[in-house]
Amino acid sequence: MKSFESLGLSGALVQSVLQIGFETPTPIQEQAIPVLLSGNRDFVGLAQTGTGKTAAFGLPLLELTDASIRETQALVLAPTRELGLQIANDLENFSEKFKAFNIVAVYGGASISEQIRKVKKGAQIIVATPGRLIDLVDRKAINLSTVRYVVLDEADEMLNMGFKDELDKILSFTPETKQTWLFSATMPREVREIMKNYMTDPFELQVGEKNTSNANITHNYVLVHEKDKYLALKRILDDNPQIFGLIFCRTRIDTQRIAEMLMKDGYNADALHGDLTQQQRDRVMMKFRDRSLQILVATDVAARGIDVDDITHVIHLNIPDEMEFYTHRSGRTARAGKRGISIAMISRRELGKVKQIEKALKTTFTKMPIPTGEQVCQRQLLALMHKVREVKVNEDEIATFLPAVYEELQDLSKNDLIKRFASIEFNRFLDYYRNAPDLNIEDRKPGEHENERYRLGGRFFINLGKMDGMEKGDLLELIDDVTGVDGKAIGKIELKGAYSFFEAEKEKVDDILNGFKDIEYNGRQVRVELTGKAPNNSSRDYKRGKSSFMRKPGGKKGSGKKPG
Ligand code: AMP
Repeated sequence: MKSFESLGLSGALVQSVLQIGFETPTPIQEQAIPVLLSGNRDFVGLAQTGTGKTAAFGLPLLELTDASIRETQALVLAPTRELGLQIANDLENFSEKFKAFNIVAVYGGASISEQIRKVKKGAQIIVATPGRLIDLVDRKAINLSTVRYVVLDEADEMLNMGFKDELDKILSFTPETKQTWLFSATMPREVREIMKNYMTDPFELQVGEKNTSNANITHNYVLVHEKDKYLALKRILDDNPQIFGLIFCRTRIDTQRIAEMLMKDGYNADALHGDLTQQQRDRVMMKFRDRSLQILVATDVAARGIDVDDITHVIHLNIPDEMEFYTHRSGRTARAGKRGISIAMISRRELGKVKQIEKALKTTFTKMPIPTGEQVCQRQLLALMHKVREVKVNEDEIATFLPAVYEELQDLSKNDLIKRFASIEFNRFLDYYRNAPDLNIEDRKPGEHENERYRLGGRFFINLGKMDGMEKGDLLELIDDVTGVDGKAIGKIELKGAYSFFEAEKEKVDDILNGFKDIEYNGRQVRVELTGKAPNNSSRDYKRGKSSFMRKPGGKKGSGKKPG
């Protein structure tokens, strides 16, 4: 393994880096730093966050920037304010014992006049989000004509977020002679276009295998009925008392709702999504960063660029439709060589997506059982006892209070004391998990129960049919997901054009009627009514489907579909 010295960095900068606690370069640093230090070549680095890429471009950038000239020499573009601030902060730290640079971060959602004031003092290095940078250039507060190095960090995310025009404009303001260093976790066509249009014969570096996910992430999934997802989520959280986790939801409404439910149920959770003000988002991120917040529930968009180390679990309440989202989400854990766990909570209909992701990322998912109530209780009790063992006793301060405590407890044996003490915290869990049902569902193969006979009780009308692209399997899966009523309890299905009929066991009638309240299917309100008693001895066939349903806002579950 190489040392930082051997990469060509100057002694003072190496000292600075060592003082931060970086002992040896990460693979991307080892390979990128010598190339970038030469200062004469465009560069493309294909690397995920958490690989140490900030130092990989940051250290050469500091070497190549002249602290004695006040004009702007380096520009770093980042997709989000959080990432921008993080980069600026890292650059400050790297350069602290090296040279005095004026490094300024500019980003939207904060006072522009304050940023103008800072830039005017002579910013040699500017770290910016694209929109705000253009604003400042248009106001003539920033002059990019002297820029020698442009870094595009997380280029794919910038393009994903719709910054293509901004990037074109910014790059056109910078001189032809500049060097461009581009970093991206993925290489979609749009990134290739930027390379083609703005870069000359770049040095291309790929760290880790392309499109494979970080090997330090364990990918798990739990199979659960849509209606049980929240309960299963709580089991997972309760089974991991030390969790420092990020939970992803598909929509803002879901994100807010799940965070609120968790808070109400006593979890240290909060929400991060686009309906919050910048100030609210900052507050939440600050709490999460300093770990006074244990569980952050977020949308994909809001969580872009979250670069908090030591996240132990990423939980996907729904598996995302886009592969890249899954990579970005799970990449929030297992940063900087640490290990992390990604858990996708999926209904049977989503099993196909797991297979797709496995194939695309060349990884395997492990099916994880949802912990039973008893397991959770066991785990919580042990965690509590561990805390007791580890607690630091302040002998001096507690001494004065102890005599009264001893007196109060004097007639209790050690065993009694332990039992009572444990029960104080633990009764809550015992109460909650007493008689808790098993939430696990089996993977069922198509056609498995085809010839079974059912005791049938009801014949239902549903206002979905062939015109909605429904096949029998789709309807079965929809019923299963929405109501938890398994296909085994469903009898004959008659699909019509705009509506259908299906039969179900007598005991399931209420579950079906209640479960379908407030459900939308592909944007349409679903109506299910009981039409009469069904004949006996029906059978049905089964086929997997792909449509999506959702519960309306204000309903018990799910939400309207407003993207993050
Ligand atoms: P990045 O990919 O730049 O966001 O870096 C991910 C994490 O790794 C950050 O917390 C860095 O502080 C840390 N890091 C970067 N380079 C090194 C290194 N050479 N040794 C130890 N930690 C590092």
